[in-house]
Amino acid sequence: EIVYFNGEWMKYDQAKISVFDRGFMFGDGIYEVTPFYEGKAFGLQEHLARLQYSMDEIMIELDAASLKPIMVEAISKSGLSSADAAVYIQVSRGVAPRTHYFPEDVEPTILIYAFPASLKAFENKQWSVLVSEDLRWHRCDIKSTSLLANVKSNTQSHRLGLDENLLLRNGLFTEGSHSTIFFIKNNVVYTHPEGPQILSGITRKFVMEICKELNIDVIEEAFPFSHLNTVDEAFLTGTTTQVMAVKEMFTDGNKIYDKPEIGSLTRKIQQAFIQKTRNL
Ligand code: PMP
Repeated sequence: EIVYFNGEWMKYDQAKISVFDRGFMFGDGIYEVTPFYEGKAFGLQEHLARLQYSMDEIMIELDAASLKPIMVEAISKSGLSSADAAVYIQVSRGVAPRTHYFPEDVEPTILIYAFPASLKAFENKQWSVLVSEDLRWHRCDIKSTSLLANVKSNTQSHRLGLDENLLLRNGLFTEGSHSTIFFIKNNVVYTHPEGPQILSGITRKFVMEICKELNIDVIEEAFPFSHLNTVDEAFLTGTTTQVMAVKEMFTDGNKIYDKPEIGSLTRKIQQAFIQKTRNL
């Protein structure tokens, strides 16, 4: 209901964006989502660092750390201080006459708000996913609001009644439309290396830490679609997805992966993740 918009707090329907905002016209902007477990931020430094990275990469000059108090305020102003919630931050280039290049003196447009998030009981769910081509650009490490390819593929999976879609580039799994993919084969965990083909997931990083603590080997290597039949377990990670077991995968109406039970290593990682996020 209440949002921070360009320096002021207001009801969301009072915030007015120019038709010449480059976020609206070009998708010229970036965003970040930070989880708050019962009012307490998890991975705040990591999320601020990634926000800074995204802004630096597209040359928006703003200090991400300066937004920290506003994030905390968004939680309290929304009455979410003891709830599970998340804070959405979006920074667009700002308002300028429509040219492909951006002028140097544009003021960024800043939007921040908190929303309730259901972060409990993910360990009791499993997702069914569609496998499709990765249609995105070659800078997926920037958390850009230009999400047309993600929107297109996720809508396709949603219309089939599925929960997420996995993306393939040259026969290799990159990630989900809004999550990171992990495969487990012979007790070894595989996930795509960081770089321009994936978003450097914050949850990915915490899950890799957990694997280290549990003495589970992790190999940062893109997993081939052709090896899917050798997979024992698969799970997806993300800020609101957390650690979600994959139950089924489909392509063109064919079921190509079927694991009705959550695997034992996935369960171990999920339990450790709950301990970490809930400070148990
Ligand atoms: N990949 C993409 C494309 C995403 O949108 C997300 C969600 N932010 C992730 C991976 C997972 O990243 P994180 O764990 O930081 O939420």
